Amino acid sequence: MYEGEENRAAAHIDQRQRLTDAGLDIRNRRERDVAFRRASSAPTRSANVAAELCPIAKTRVASRPSSYASAKESAAVVIAADVRTERLVAVASPSLPARAGSDRHERVRLCAPMRSVTRSPKMPETPLTRAQLVRGRWRTTAGVAALALGIECVAAHFDGIDVDALSTYRDGVVNRMYAGLTGLVRQHGITVVAGHGSYLGGRTVQIDDARHTGRFLVLATGSEPQIPSTLQLSERIITSDQALTLQTIPARAVVVGGGAIGVEFASLWASFGAEVTIVEAQPSLLPAEDPWASKQLQRALTKRGICVRADTAIVSATERANGVTVELPGGDTLETDVVLIATGRAPRTSHAGLSEHGIALENGFVVTDDTLATSIEGVYAIGDIVRGLQLAHRGFGHGVFVAEHLAGLSPVPPSDEVVPRVVYSHPEVAAVGLTEAAVRERFGMATAVVYDLSGNAKSQILGTTGGVKVVRAGGKADDGPVLGVHMVGDRVSELIGEAQIVVGWEALASEVGRFPHAHPTQHEALGEAMMALSGKPLHAHG
Ligand SMILES: Cc1cc2nc3c(=O)[nH]c(=O)nc-3n(C[C@H](O)[C@H](O)[C@H](O)COP(=O)(O)OP(=O)(O)OC[C@H]3O[C@@H](n4cnc5c(N)ncnc54)[C@H](O)[C@@H]3O)c2cc1C
Repeated sequence: MYEGEENRAAAHIDQRQRLTDAGLDIRNRRERDVAFRRASSAPTRSANVAAELCPIAKTRVASRPSSYASAKESAAVVIAADVRTERLVAVASPSLPARAGSDRHERVRLCAPMRSVTRSPKMPETPLTRAQLVRGRWRTTAGVAALALGIECVAAHFDGIDVDALSTYRDGVVNRMYAGLTGLVRQHGITVVAGHGSYLGGRTVQIDDARHTGRFLVLATGSEPQIPSTLQLSERIITSDQALTLQTIPARAVVVGGGAIGVEFASLWASFGAEVTIVEAQPSLLPAEDPWASKQLQRALTKRGICVRADTAIVSATERANGVTVELPGGDTLETDVVLIATGRAPRTSHAGLSEHGIALENGFVVTDDTLATSIEGVYAIGDIVRGLQLAHRGFGHGVFVAEHLAGLSPVPPSDEVVPRVVYSHPEVAAVGLTEAAVRERFGMATAVVYDLSGNAKSQILGTTGGVKVVRAGGKADDGPVLGVHMVGDRVSELIGEAQIVVGWEALASEVGRFPHAHPTQHEALGEAMMALSGKPLHAHG
């Protein structure tokens, strides 16, 4: 070995040792060198990282463990290395020191996306891998923030999710929304009477000792979790009501039911590092959605390490001292810490004397006509107690419709076919209108195209895959309004507004495709799908 080589080798050994000392296990040489430069360029004044940077991340400065306290005042951008998954995640501080050319607004804007890339150690989907950071993506995110603000980076270790901070953050959002709504109710002079209401027939309700009779009565008692008769709730066998306020993140979870709520909790817990199994009785997740979307979602969740047991009905769940044993058909069992029962929601109509006083029910749902009028004159029903999609915005729509109807206007009766359906998982699923099978059933023939998000620049920037499927009636040579849009991929919920207007206004694919969609946005994928559906594909292979 020549002298120069010897020196270089010694330097590498030294460098490697320093990285190991810093808690970094960087095996790839090029990535190691970059990470090392980041780590070693971090001055002791660098950062108390995530607690103040990201509300739910617990991060430890790996390169300078002794510098936490001094770092606090000057927290900046942090390149966080997760040594267990060998991934780097980046977080940035909302309390960055002021620099020339960067006002607070700018700093927040730069930092905001970084919050979304902090992940738990086990998370396989951490968006920024070391390789991606090294290859330059970091320059567009944390790197830009760092360079723009002239601040240093440090390496850090991601320890996990701070459940208290998570709860505080969530409660803050919920409380602000709640305060806003109660303020609006007050501002409009609406009287709120707190208490359990019992229906007495006609348009009269009793609350405590007082009776209230209106010119009209609107029932909106909502829904509650439906528990299969074979399962019994306990401390570890819970519904979404308890899951929303769980004070720990389970290490293992079995989610019974692969509908929207089950998938969202499964995705969330997996993101937090849990080992998750979804048990779904139907052959696929989200059974009511287009099978293309269900398949895409199932593939993506499986890739993230979530085990999906479709076509499997749970036999029993038995709570033990330190967990729950779940029995599946054929004697198969699963050991878990928590079982979430997410097998649907039943209308809450059996507790207030509705059917006893003449309100017609069908399987618990209030029977209504097109105007949401019930079987009793002057009594209307809205929201989850009316059969159909159980979604908050559908309930709003019902409420607005009934108010306008009672005011003597002529509103268009609500239709579930223009109500968007979104599953907030990773990746997301967003849909509006009919599935391909429903179009075929109703019109005899259906034409559908799928535009793959791999052809969409913004999706590539975001590191997401998936697709956009659009459906219309008829054959390839026919024309006609778009009847259904189905999307899978991160952030596709943000596209559902355009899709809803297309379906709701019965636009032709050729009309929508003609609008140039902003580049680079994920909306372009919707535009491309429309062009393809109208027989004029632009950026499409094959
Ligand atoms: C975990 C979870 C996640 C969800 N996520 C979403 C989502 O992301 N997007 C979405 O659109 N929808 C979502 N939903 C569904 C959404 O919450 C419901 O569709 C919506 O709340 C239904 O509104 P509602 O007014 O019909 O009933 P509710 O919101 O349930 O309101 C009914 C109210 O009536 C009260 N009440 C009932 N009976 C009486 C009585 N006898 N006297 C007095 N008061 C009574 C109840 O206490 C309750 O406050 C979710 C639901 C769950 C459980």
